[in-house]
Amino acid sequence: MHTLYSPKLDQLAELARQIVDDSVLPNAELVDRECRWPEHSMRAFADAGLLGLQVPGTLGGHGLGLHALLHLTSIIGQACPSSALCFGMHCVGTAVIAAKATDSQRNRYLREIAAGRHITTLALSESGTGAHFYLPETTMTRDNGRYLLNGTKQFVTNGGRADSYVVSTVASDGMAEGDFSCVIVDADTPGMAWQQPWDGFGMRGNSSRTLALQDAAVPAENLLGTEGDQVWYVFEVVAPYFLMAMAGTYLGIAQTAVDLAGEHLRNRRHSHTGGTLAEIETMQTRYAAMWVALQKTRALVEEAAQRGDVGHPEALPFILACKADAGETAITLANDAMTICGGSAYRENSRVAQLLRDARASHVMSPTTDMLRVWTGRALLGMPLL
Ligand SMILES: Cc1cc2nc3c(=O)[nH]c(=O)nc-3n(C[C@H](O)[C@H](O)[C@H](O)COP(=O)(O)OP(=O)(O)OC[C@H]3O[C@@H](n4cnc5c(N)ncnc54)[C@H](O)[C@@H]3O)c2cc1C
Repeated sequence: MHTLYSPKLDQLAELARQIVDDSVLPNAELVDRECRWPEHSMRAFADAGLLGLQVPGTLGGHGLGLHALLHLTSIIGQACPSSALCFGMHCVGTAVIAAKATDSQRNRYLREIAAGRHITTLALSESGTGAHFYLPETTMTRDNGRYLLNGTKQFVTNGGRADSYVVSTVASDGMAEGDFSCVIVDADTPGMAWQQPWDGFGMRGNSSRTLALQDAAVPAENLLGTEGDQVWYVFEVVAPYFLMAMAGTYLGIAQTAVDLAGEHLRNRRHSHTGGTLAEIETMQTRYAAMWVALQKTRALVEEAAQRGDVGHPEALPFILACKADAGETAITLANDAMTICGGSAYRENSRVAQLLRDARASHVMSPTTDMLRVWTGRALLGMPLL
């Protein structure tokens, strides 16, 4: 088959497919049923060297960008969307650390990530500002060569499981008011308290927990970039990597919805006619429409990733549109698959029902679908996003 990818990415994709077949897919139902964080998936990705996807080659990683992230999350998302979300958020966190890493951060975090010994993730959202994830209220105060963090983060994917957390803050005493900054908080930092375990409607394995920070002391060398850099990180690094990781995850869900619908159409046979559902014209047109929707979304997200990787001057509206579109397509196609697969899919915890529940996270994970549509329009009209 003609491949869109470089030989290196093809090789990594093949590795990911093997892991998916051996471990991710066989455990996907358990992850969903028991709200189990997919340790088996993350361990296998670590052992295969995939955690270093976004770590520069000089530090032992693969030094790859948006297209690679899109491709791998879509392969994993086809089998276990929670695993794709956990892997994706690790990769976004890695890209944030790598963007302006100091020597100490390269050695302590990026080399460890590439060696498969360290998982990171993003802790940006807060209940006060909700979907406005770029407006943290967690404060950061200078204190004798370190920073003290106080506040509460919500919905931290990989919460309580990662080795470090990229946390966004607002300046407190001693710094310019209104300055937002990002810092790396190690998992064993005193003053961190994890709230109740995650028991979500979908994405049930992602351990999306609330984290309270009370005078959590972070060494000054854990500051990312310089004080006040958070807005740069959010829009230059978090947004493109996060949107691509999520677009890949939801593209994977959409692909599986089409696959499961096709499988059911071919196999479900009525006793009174002896024929399959695939022979009914209404089902044929429904299935064709699903396939076309999938291909349109795939074309958009591929275009977005490739433009993003080369820094194309018109990449922005593509990147902003791709997660909203992939999420919408995943929800629509999972819904269509529920209809096509009939009563068997409606049974509690069918694989198709799980896809639908997982796909629903796309609309509320920020930047949310509504926000992205506004931002895409603004970008196309030459207006500032905020
Ligand atoms: C499964 C899951 C995983 C997550 N993982 C992470 C993570 O790893 N790290 C992290 O930091 N956060 C994470 N989040 C949090 C997420 O990004 C959002 O911040 C959170 O879902 C917002 O919830 P809320 O109820 O406070 O939203 P609200 O702010 O109350 O928004 C509710 C609705 O109103 C809409 N809305 C609000 N303001 C606007 C506006 N200005 N314009 C248009 N529409 C608007 C939103 O689009 C949304 O549909 C995760 C969330 C989920 C569900």
